[in-house]
Formats: sequence, structure tokens, C-alpha cells
Amino acid sequence: MAHLCRKGKGKNLKILDGVLLAEQIKDEIKGEISRDSLIVGLAVVLVGDDQASRIYVNHKKKDCEECGIASYEYTLPESATQEEVITLIKQLNSDEKINGILIQQPFPKHIDVTAVNESVSPLKDVDAFRADTVGKIAVGDYGFLPCTPAGVMELIHSTGVSVSGKECVVVGRSNIVGKPMALMLLNESATVTICHSRTRDLGEVTRRADILVSAVGKARLITADMVKEGAIVIDVGMNRDNSNGGKLCGDVDYAGVAPKASFITPVPGGVGPMTRALLMKNTLTAKRLQS
Ligand code: NDP
Repeated sequence: MAHLCRKGKGKNLKILDGVLLAEQIKDEIKGEISRDSLIVGLAVVLVGDDQASRIYVNHKKKDCEECGIASYEYTLPESATQEEVITLIKQLNSDEKINGILIQQPFPKHIDVTAVNESVSPLKDVDAFRADTVGKIAVGDYGFLPCTPAGVMELIHSTGVSVSGKECVVVGRSNIVGKPMALMLLNESATVTICHSRTRDLGEVTRRADILVSAVGKARLITADMVKEGAIVIDVGMNRDNSNGGKLCGDVDYAGVAPKASFITPVPGGVGPMTRALLMKNTLTAKRLQS
């Protein structure tokens, strides 16, 4: 799969192109939908008028168009109650044209995220945010894969390097990224360490990693001295770099780390597009599960 990597400036560095790989996945989905004449629908629920959420929702609608999936947007006002949000989700759960339900987060503060996530039918949980969907990963039962860690696994697979037996370090332990990420690496027989804000000496742990995944949300947290020579470095973080005009950046100090890495994901253009492609894949899986 070397064609999905670009050569970087380091001696043997390859940049993992998430845009290209995502396009390939979306093409496959489009082909499958067209070949089997499927009618697939994704509901996107937005509560309030958060500008960043609006941009993400528009990107997802465009992805749907590219894959031949019908997208249906449901926007509730910022003042919507939790009960109103859950009532809408219950309607979508029983709506046959809707195969997957995506609830764009963050929510207004008065809404309990967990209660809303849990109200999505397990057959339509394409974001894989329900506790039982995430829990099943622990026993190797993949119905819906959490989109971001699943996208990271695809990027790692595209390097051609086997995960089995590798030292993998995941920085971050959130329920939507860090924890499922660690489980998915473990399921492929990696030796996995999870780091978080209480980890005593982060660099001492990350330097052991053959494969390092950072999912924290802090610009330049991972510097060159924290990375082993030849490591695969996957940067999930999405931050605004205030010292650089608010430009989008990851957790990894790219300029410093890239010369040491064998493969690295850029931000933007790495994990982000893959997360969106995997949402499309889950929506197609939902259609198959419901048929
Ligand atoms: P959370 O805020 O839920 O989790 C962040 C994690 O980082 C926590 O486990 C926290 O530890 C840990 N952490 C915080 N500070 C440090 C530190 N100094 N050293 C080590 N660990 C630390 O974030 P998410 O998991 O939701 O997202 C992480 C990042 O990934 C964000 O930048 C987000 O925007 C991005 N993201 C990108 C996606 C994409 O598609 N590219 C998709 C989803 C997220 P503790 O648990 O102890 O508090």
C-alpha cells in the first residue's frame, strides 16, 4: 500500500496520506452501494448553532453525497431539552429510511451526553458512542467500530507493518478515542500502554513505542526527544496553534518528530478524513445489519 504514503524529508520517512486513503474507502463504499442497489440513509442531529459543529456536519453531508448515502439533517435549537432530543432520536430509531444516527457533539451543557448516546438504537449507533458498542471491542466483537480509532488502524495497516508484538503507546484515555484505540491494538496482539494526565514521566513511556498514537488535544505535547527512532507516529489531536495564527495542528511537534519517524500522519490530512470515511463505512454496515 506504499502508494498511500508520500515520501517525507527524513531519511526514510513516509507521510501517511489520510485524504487519499479516505477517498479510496469512500470509493469502495460507493461501489458497493451502487452494485447492490442499496438505499442507505444517515440522520445527522445538531443541537444549537456551534460554528465548528456546523462545519463538521457539512463535511459529513458531503461525504454522504460522495458515497451515495442520503443524509437527513435535524437541527434543534440550543434551548432544546434533553427530553426533546431523546424524543427525536426515538423517532429516528423507528424510521426505516434512517440506517444510522449521528449526533454532533458538543451538546449544550444542560444535556446529558451519555443519556442521549444511550438512546440511539444499537443497530443505528454508527458513531459507536454507546457503552455496549465500545465494551464489545474488549471481547473482539466488532459491530460498529468507533470511527477515529478504526481510522487509525486503517492508517497503520496501510504502512504494511504488522502490529503483532509491537510496543504501542496510546496517549489519552477517553471513551471515544484512547480506550477503544488501546483495545483495538491489543486485539491485534500489540503490547499496549495507555498514558494520561497522571502519567508520571510521559517521555519515558512514549520513547518505548514502536507505534505511538497521541489523542490528547495539546499542541506540541509530543516532542522529538519523546519519540523512538523509526517509530510510526499517529497524531489524532486537533488543536488551534495560537503561536501560529490559530492554524490547525495536532499534538505532535511535526517538524521536530518527522525526521525521527518512519511514518507520520500530518494534521490536517491524516486522521481527520479517516474518521469521516469510517463513519460512512459504519453507515453501510448499519444498513447490512438491519436488512
Ligand atoms: P479528551 O479531552 O476526552 O481526552 C484527552 C485525554 O488526554 C485524557 O485522557 C487526558 O487524561 C489526556 N491528557 C490530557 N493532558 C495530558 C498530558 N499532559 N499528558 C498525557 N495525557 C494527557 O479528548 P478526546 O479523546 O475526545 O480527543 C483528543 C484529541 O483528539 C482532541 O484534540 C480532539 O479534538 C481530537 N480528536 C480528533 C478526531 C479526528 O477525527 N481527528 C476525532 C476525535 C478527537 P485524563 O483522562 O487523565 O484527563
